[in-house]
Amino acid sequence: MNDKKIPSPPVLPPKIKIKENFCLFHKGEIEGETYTCPKCGTKYCLKCAKKARSEAKLCVKCKQLVMM
Ligand SMILES: [Zn+2]
Ligand SMILES: [Zn+2]
Repeated sequence: MNDKKIPSPPVLPPKIKIKENFCLFHKGEIEGETYTCPKCGTKYCLKCAKKARSEAKLCVKCKQLVMM
């Protein structure tokens, strides 16, 4: 008898979903006003973006300078 067991399908990792309101500068939820990167559309806190600009930090995702 051929009763080969069908291997169970591999468990796929859950899709990594970046929260809509997640700031990559302070690694937390965006509070208050938001700044949107003009190049990639990543959102940051306006507060963090201002700080990033003064420190000449780049967008975490696309390395675009923070401009506003
Ligand atoms: Zn960007
Ligand atoms: Zn922030």
